[in-house]
Amino acid sequence: MPLEIGLNDVVQLRKPHPCGSDTWVVVRLGADIGLKCLGCGHRVLLPRSTLARRLKKIVSHGDAPPETPHGGDN
Ligand SMILES: [Zn+2]
Repeated sequence: MPLEIGLNDVVQLRKPHPCGSDTWVVVRLGADIGLKCLGCGHRVLLPRSTLARRLKKIVSHGDAPPETPHGGDN
């Protein structure tokens, strides 16, 4: 399954950052994905394949409208 993330998406990684936060916001898209730690603001660049392995879940989407196939959850 391809990695479907966009700018400003908030993602959770399997391994927490040393600062204690495990959520990151997508700040750059390309061959490498730029992530900024929401705990301390540290930025990293990860190859798309590496991010796909470390990704636990997508917490929220940024600019892109949500496309849930079976409606909302309210
Ligand atoms: Zn951090």
